[in-house]
Amino acid sequence: MLKNCNLCPRNCNIDRASQKGYCRAPDNIMLAKASTFFYEEPVVSGKNGTGAIFFSGCTLKCCFCQNKEISQDMKGLTVTDTKFSEILLNLQEKGVDSISLISATPYVLNIIRSIEKIKHKIKIPIVYNTSGYEKTETIKMLKDYIDVYVPDIKYINSGYSKKYSNAEDYFKYCSDAVYEKLSQKPKLIYKDNQTLISGVLIRHLVLPGLYKDSIDILNWIKNLLSTNNFECLISIMSQYTPYHQSNLYPEINRRITGFEYKKVINEANRLELNGYMQERISSKDSYIPDFDFEGII
Ligand code: SF4
Repeated sequence: MLKNCNLCPRNCNIDRASQKGYCRAPDNIMLAKASTFFYEEPVVSGKNGTGAIFFSGCTLKCCFCQNKEISQDMKGLTVTDTKFSEILLNLQEKGVDSISLISATPYVLNIIRSIEKIKHKIKIPIVYNTSGYEKTETIKMLKDYIDVYVPDIKYINSGYSKKYSNAEDYFKYCSDAVYEKLSQKPKLIYKDNQTLISGVLIRHLVLPGLYKDSIDILNWIKNLLSTNNFECLISIMSQYTPYHQSNLYPEINRRITGFEYKKVINEANRLELNGYMQERISSKDSYIPDFDFEGII
């Protein structure tokens, strides 16, 4: 299939062995780090951290991307499917409570092949953590391989998604993909009342000036949950910090205000959504890992 890659909504239809598509991913998995990580939500990190695997390349081009070094500049090393299986098992041996595949969309087929070989040995949940810009048919392929989905919903307004992430159709695809994820994992299931072993956690980063879009997203989620009797957790993040090309857009070249964040949190509370509502006052710059190939070489 990577001979005609159409894994994501960019539909490049190229042979990844010899050509680069929008995401710039090669046909083999390309990684920048695989190590224990404590900065995810407690239901993902557990007590012992998650084994976070950072993939190179991305299907979006967010002007505020904090991981540009790997997402757009393609820092990373390629590994075979066999080596990737070893990396998964090595992380598990370290005693982590989950494995997080971070921005892995271009490598879904490689991941399925790699997990298939060692599925009987994997004892911890595998978490699929993405930008949300995905095709439903690609998510359907993951049904038997992923335990917990952690998608972003970044925008509902197509003007914003076009302007800041070059994806006018972001919500069209993201909303269908979130529905598929919730259809696969309709209820939240925990181990020891602590670590999520099955379910969906939706993340939303509040952007400067866009709190009304955030409120629309929360209402969309509430309606989806109520209509379908789905459960999920919500993580509302306040730590937006201008990075990369944010300075090209003066309106988002600042942190969010307390007023903006409070508006969004109040709406989440009004809608009785459950999850993580970070205190804005305590939010600092997001932790950006050192992409030093740890766990890969
Ligand atoms: S995964 Fe990459 S190459 Fe494939 S369709 Fe998406 S952007 Fe294009």
